[in-house]
Amino acid sequence: MNQMTLLGELQHLDTRSDENAAARVALEKKLADTSAVQSARAALEQSEKKAHELKAQLRALELETSGLTDKLKQVNERLYSGRITNAKELAGLNADEKMLQRRKSELEDQELALMEQIESAEDAEKGNRAAYAKLAAETNARNEQERTALRDLDASDAELAHKRDSIRAQLSTETLHVYDELRRTKKGRAVVMMKAASCTACGTAVPSGLVSRVRLGNELVSCVNCGRILVP
Ligand SMILES: [Zn+2]
Repeated sequence: MNQMTLLGELQHLDTRSDENAAARVALEKKLADTSAVQSARAALEQSEKKAHELKAQLRALELETSGLTDKLKQVNERLYSGRITNAKELAGLNADEKMLQRRKSELEDQELALMEQIESAEDAEKGNRAAYAKLAAETNARNEQERTALRDLDASDAELAHKRDSIRAQLSTETLHVYDELRRTKKGRAVVMMKAASCTACGTAVPSGLVSRVRLGNELVSCVNCGRILVP
């Protein structure tokens, strides 16, 4: 291979290596982004907490109702025991009984309303749990693919580095210096094709005197505008 063909090949390998690096950054960014799973987890925890709180409220109400039921039983026993004959006392017990009944019925209404809320909270919790599990499984599978893709990139990089070393070993120090400098200053594109007697990087026409020299490929010919090395 002549120097220009080697340079073209070197550029090709370095471009692939740059593409690998960009792909690696994108994959690592994806792997690091756990926001979707985290928000699904947060939604699940939120709904678990809500259902838990509502159940605690229901237990408190049930406890209060049970206390009232006991009291009501005692009042009723006294009322109908036949032992109380004092009219005032009987009237008082009657009033207590009514008050306790009213409160008990209020509590029972609240319990019913709470049970409905618990049912929808449990439905929401179930839905969130399923959504979280699905997302976590999908994310795990995708992460596995991404890790495989990263390993493929490692293998590709190793192969590219090996080929690159072998090509660089065949190029002169001066040529490599020009190439490396252009790679650094021209966004990685040091060597470009000449097509229809123009530079394919910047579009500038190659002066006719240079066109044939580029086609021969025996020497470094730079684009008169962007300075990149032109290859046929
Ligand atoms: Zn150019």
